[in-house]
Amino acid sequence: MAITIKNLMEDIVSQKLDKMIDKLGVCTCEICKTDILCYTLNRLHPKYVATNNGELLSKIDSLSNTFDIAIITEITNAAIIVKNHPRHN
Ligand SMILES: [Zn+2]
Repeated sequence: MAITIKNLMEDIVSQKLDKMIDKLGVCTCEICKTDILCYTLNRLHPKYVATNNGELLSKIDSLSNTFDIAIITEITNAAIIVKNHPRHN
């Protein structure tokens, strides 16, 4: 069995961003999406867990609700910054 260490926030923020991105009015290319993801993850506390894959999904679900407001706030801030300073033309 493979136990790995993982920052659950990566999955949570990534899922949340996919759901929100149409409403943010930002470019949805990979560059801008990844920039928003990095900015958001740098502003939030990481949530590391030691896990095997089976456990992961239920943890993401319950944590996702706990951090909802903080995540939405940071994604929104990140979207504004990326929109004003895109890394491409
Ligand atoms: Zn873009």
